[in-house]
Amino acid sequence: MPLIMPILAKPAALKALKEARSILENVTPMKMNCGKLCDGACCKEDESGDNGMLLFPYEAELYKKPIEGFAYHLSDDDTLFKGGKRFVCEGSCPREHRPLACRLFPLRIAIAADDNGIDATAQAEIDPRAWICCPILEQGGLRAMSMDFKDAVKRAGEVLMENDYMLEALHNEQRLIDEMRQF
Ligand code: SF4
Ligand code: SF4
Repeated sequence: MPLIMPILAKPAALKALKEARSILENVTPMKMNCGKLCDGACCKEDESGDNGMLLFPYEAELYKKPIEGFAYHLSDDDTLFKGGKRFVCEGSCPREHRPLACRLFPLRIAIAADDNGIDATAQAEIDPRAWICCPILEQGGLRAMSMDFKDAVKRAGEVLMENDYMLEALHNEQRLIDEMRQF
């Protein structure tokens, strides 16, 4: 694709991304601080020391400049789209700067479509990658989570799927999850 296309696409993609992040700004999986259940397990480093969250298209733009009080770095990661980035932090962050993937966790946005690939809808579902660390999944799963949170994940998905770049990343993630489920 000519370089000009991604540049022209940036404003609309960033608008969708910021709206999705904003929808999830103040909601959390449970009414209580669920980090007390697990001592913030999803924010801890794994053994490799290079875990982290996959950024959505153009989200790296929001982390180009250092953010005061927030230590992080970006690694190259093409899992969701070519030229993608993985966000690796040191386990604490100012809430307003959390990446979208952190705001969604332990849910994810699933895109469902009919057999012809049309009539797509966004749904909130448990992220199977959360099973390794998130106790909410053992304690009732979706039923244990706040309705506001589930609704916000779905609404964020509806906003994202209106943008081709975001929709492609969501489809690529879906393929990844489907492959994981085969094992
Ligand atoms: S691992 Fe689950 S329960 Fe623990 S802080 Fe993360 S989302 Fe909350
Ligand atoms: S950015 Fe914040 S919410 Fe996301 S993993 Fe790091 S500390 Fe946790």
